[in-house]
Parts: sequence; C-alpha cells; structure tokens
Amino acid sequence: MVDQSTLLKVEDLEVAFYSSSNTVKAVNGISFNLKRSETIGIVGESGSGKSVTATSILGLLPPRTSKIEKGSITFEGKNLVSLPAKQMRKIRGNEISMIFQDPMTSLNPVFTIGNQLVEVICLHQNVSKKEGMQRAIEMLRLVGIPEPEKRIKQYPHEFSGGMRQRAMIAIALACQPKLLIADEPTTALDVTVQAQILNLMKDLQEKLETAIILITHDLGVVWENCDKVIVMYAGNAVEATSTENLYEKPLHPYTWGLLDSRVKPDEDMLTPVPGSPPDLRNEIKGCAFATRCKYAKEVCFEKKPSLIEVEKDHSVACHFQKNDQRLVRDGGYQ
Ligand code: SF4
Repeated sequence: MVDQSTLLKVEDLEVAFYSSSNTVKAVNGISFNLKRSETIGIVGESGSGKSVTATSILGLLPPRTSKIEKGSITFEGKNLVSLPAKQMRKIRGNEISMIFQDPMTSLNPVFTIGNQLVEVICLHQNVSKKEGMQRAIEMLRLVGIPEPEKRIKQYPHEFSGGMRQRAMIAIALACQPKLLIADEPTTALDVTVQAQILNLMKDLQEKLETAIILITHDLGVVWENCDKVIVMYAGNAVEATSTENLYEKPLHPYTWGLLDSRVKPDEDMLTPVPGSPPDLRNEIKGCAFATRCKYAKEVCFEKKPSLIEVEKDHSVACHFQKNDQRLVRDGGYQ
C-alpha cells in the first residue's frame, strides 16, 4: 500500500536481457521508495544496473530483447509494469521525465531548441503553439539561459555543452514532472558547469516539488545532492541508507572501494577498486564482489549475501556485516 507521501515505490525489481545465446540478469531485486521533493542517488560502476533501473521506470526497455521478470514499480498508486503502453506514454515526459548524460545525442540536431521544447509542451499540456512558445521562453529563462527569446530560435550546435544540458533540463521540466530521472547529468561537463547544473536542479526541485532519481558514479555528487542512496554492484543493491549514514559510516567493502577511488584534494594517488565487474552472462555463485574483495572468505564464493537491515535505515549485503558482527574497514571485526 503506497502511503500519501510516497510517490514511487519500486519493489523487488528484476530485469533480464536476452540474446540468442545468453541471458543477462541486469537488475536483481532492487527495492526503494521515493517521496515527493526527495532525491535518491543510485551509485555504481558502468554495468551495475543503475540505468536499466531508470529505463524500467520510464517503460523504455527494448521490448524484444528485455523483460521485467519480477517485481513492481508503483507510481502514484499505479503499477507501471502492467500499465498499457498508451497510458504509459501519457505519464512519460509529463509526470516522469529524464535528463540523459549526453545532451548532444538526446537533442535533435535538425530542430531548433524552441521547436523541441514547444513540441513537448503542446503534446502534454494541450496548449496552443503560441502559448507553448511563451512557456518555452519562460523555461529557458528559468534554467538560466540568457536572451531566451533569441536563443530559442537556435539549433543545439549553437549552444555550449553546459547550455545544451540546461536546455535538456528545460525540456525535462517543461511539464513540471513529479519525478525527474537524471542519468549522469553532469558527467560530460567541467566541474564549474557541473556545480551550476546540480544547483539549478536543486533550485527547480524546491520550486516545483519534484522528486529526483540521480544516477551517478560519483559519491561527491551524492553527498551534495541526495537525501538517500543505493549502491549497486552487478545488478544488486549492496548498500542502501541515508546519505548521512553512508558518509559517516559506510559498511559495504565495495562502497569503501568507491570511496578510496575518489580524487582527494590532499592525495596524489587514487586507489582504484582492483579487477573488473563480473560478466553478467555467466551465473554468479556467491557474492558478486568476491573476486575483487580483499575481505572475501570461502563463504563469499558459495553463498549470495542478502541485503539486510543491520542498523536503523541502513541495509547491507555482506556476510560479515550483521547486527552482532561488524567487519571494519582495513581489517578485523568489531
Ligand atoms: Fe566481500 Fe564477502 Fe562481504 Fe562480499 S560478502 S563484500 S566478498 S566480505
């Protein structure tokens, strides 16, 4: 039962991709809730299942080669997994929008920014083209594009990278969605523009009360912008808690690895997580992180750890992080 303040509830979501010779289990039982005006970060390396989770929520999985095997995605009381395509089209772009990593491949190069914005507004809001144009100018102004009356007539190639990302945000927010999914929205941008775009998203969230799913590989982005966070590895949630908890007391060895591999102002060297993620075409026995984990023991290669709540609102999937026993970063037990 979805309570009043819960906007989105993802429960035990499993997604698989198929080819003639293989099955890839891309997401293995992810669950989370999101309230209005709340931001959740989904963190992990490429191939961890972050973007597949987002694509599933939007109903944009490739129909012939993928399938939601199990679970539900409840948005405002409606299960999106079983919603007819026509109803899903009304929700997508209107109530749930997405900002992609690379605006150049998401914006159509042969249409002006104005055309693309007005199309979205007119499609979902049932307004005249003239009114749509007026709203489009207001949206460009809202996202900080100077001289929006002039800029609206320009093509994507006439915008800088940061401006294109702002235009993408304007398109995504044009219909004032209740949920915004931002998939690595600032990865292609330099640090200054990155901060501007993230601040802009926060400002707009306050004004429009939008809930945000922020997909990123950068824990720094999570600290600054998210209320809670899920760390994903090889299609599994390995740690789920509030941003504060994860910052003060991360518990999963993979999260420790992500923290060690961040750029730190006072250190010259990064410590990358050794090895590479497992090939998801092969069946994984035990903990998916075992081949890269310096704390792994025999049991890790034999039995998959379940995600369990070891402290209030802090869940971890590790055989050695339990209520009565704690693995300590850099060795030993507590
Ligand atoms: Fe490492 Fe074992 Fe914990 Fe997996 S279950 S994270 S391999 S210690």
